[in-house]
Amino acid sequence: MNILILGSGGRESAFAWKISQSPKCSRLFIAPGNAGTPQYGQNVNIKVTDFEGIGKFAIDNAIDMVLVGPEEPLVKGIHDFFLADEQLKSIPVIGPQKEGAQLEGSKDFSKDFMFRQNIPTAASRTFTRDTLQEGFDYLAIAGLPIVLKADGLAAGKGVLICTSLQEAQLELTEMLTEAKFGDASSKVVIEQFLQGIELSVFVMTDGTNYKVLPEAKDYKRIGEGDTGLNTGGMGSVSPVPFADAEFMQKVTDKVIIPTVEGLKNENIPYKGFIFIGLMNCDGEPYVIEYNCRMGDPETESVMPRIESDFVDLLIGVAESNLDEKELIISDKIATTVVMVAGGYPGEYLKNKVITGIENVHESTVFHAGTSTQDDKIITTGGRVLAITTLQDNLFNALQQATADASRIYYDGMYFRKDIGFDLL
Ligand code: AMP
Repeated sequence: MNILILGSGGRESAFAWKISQSPKCSRLFIAPGNAGTPQYGQNVNIKVTDFEGIGKFAIDNAIDMVLVGPEEPLVKGIHDFFLADEQLKSIPVIGPQKEGAQLEGSKDFSKDFMFRQNIPTAASRTFTRDTLQEGFDYLAIAGLPIVLKADGLAAGKGVLICTSLQEAQLELTEMLTEAKFGDASSKVVIEQFLQGIELSVFVMTDGTNYKVLPEAKDYKRIGEGDTGLNTGGMGSVSPVPFADAEFMQKVTDKVIIPTVEGLKNENIPYKGFIFIGLMNCDGEPYVIEYNCRMGDPETESVMPRIESDFVDLLIGVAESNLDEKELIISDKIATTVVMVAGGYPGEYLKNKVITGIENVHESTVFHAGTSTQDDKIITTGGRVLAITTLQDNLFNALQQATADASRIYYDGMYFRKDIGFDLL
C-alpha cells in the first residue's frame, strides 16, 4: 500500500516509524513531515489544510490510504472532501468526517452527546453572548473552583479553571463579549470541576467495532512537579499503573461502548481514533474531553507498545472488519520525554542547531519541531524532539529516556526530568 500521513509533529513521527515497519506498506509519504520523518518515508511539502493539494498528490501518487494526524484538517472536513470527489472517494481516510470530528471541534456538541448517551461527565451548561446574565446566575450557584471552556478549537488554550466567582465572571464576559479566544469562545461551556487523576484512553474504531489501544498519562505543565504554564505536552508514560483491569473494565462499559454505539445509533459515521481524556474520581471514570485523533506526546509512548502490524489494524478501520484484526500489546513500559525550545510555551527560540542525536542508542528519537538547513538539523517549533524508551520496568525506562535526552544539545534546550516519577 502507498500511505500518506498528514502532519509534522512527534505524533506523526511515531506513526511513520511504526507504519514503515509494516510489510504491507510499500511507499510512505508524510505531508509536510519534519527533519526526522525522511528516515521512514518521503516528505511532501503540502500543508495539512491544503485539501486540493493533498487530493491531487493522492491521485498522482496512487495513494491507498490517508492517515490524518492533527485535528484541524478533520474538523475542517478533509474526510468529507475526499468523499465528495469522484476520484478520491475510494481512498480511505483514517479520521472521522466533519460531523464526528465535532466531538473535539465543539465542546457543546460533545457534552450534549455525553448527556444523551449517559456517559459519565461533569455537570455543565452552555452559554452565549445573549445568555450572559443566565451564565452569571449559573456561576453564582455552581460552586468553586469552576471550569470555563471555549466551545471551539483554541489551540489547547481555551480551558480556564477559576477559583473565585469574580474571576469566573470576568473570564466569561471576556470570552463571550470580547472574543477572548476568537470565534471559539462565541459559546462557553461552564463545567463542574472534577477532582482526580487524569488518564488518556485511545480507541480505534471502524464505526462498529473497536480496539482499545494502550492507555497513557501525559504531563502538561512546563515545570517539574507539574507546575507553571500549560504546554502541548512535556512527556508521557504507558501503561498507567492505576488503570488496572477493574478500572479499564469500567471505562469500557461506561464510556467506550456507549461512545461507539452512541455514534452509530445517532448515524454519525466514524472511522479513526477517539482520544478520551478521563478523570479517575475515586475509582470512577468521568470524561473530560474527546479528541478526534491520537494525542501528542501520548502516541510516542503508545506506538512502541503495539506489537501487531499497525497497517493491518488501519486496514481493519478502512474495511470495517476491525473485529477480525489482532491487537497485541507489549507488557513493557514506554516513557517519552519531550525536549522543548528555550522560552516555550511563551515566545521561544528558533533555528538553533541540534547536535548529539547520533549519541542516542537505547531510545527512539521522534522529531517534532525540526527542519533541515544546510545539512544541519535545526529547531523550528516549541516542542522539538520526543525521546521514547521501552523497557521492562518504569524506573529504568525513565532513567534511560532522561539520560538520552541529556545526550542531545541545542541552545536553550529544556526538558522535564521528573516525567513519570509520580507513578513509581
Ligand atoms: P480539555 O481541553 O477539555 O482537555 O481541558 C484541558 C485540561 O483542563 C484538562 O486536561 C484538565 O487538566 C483540565 N480540565 C478540563 N476540564 C476539567 C474539569 N471539569 N475538572 C477539572 N479539570 C478539568
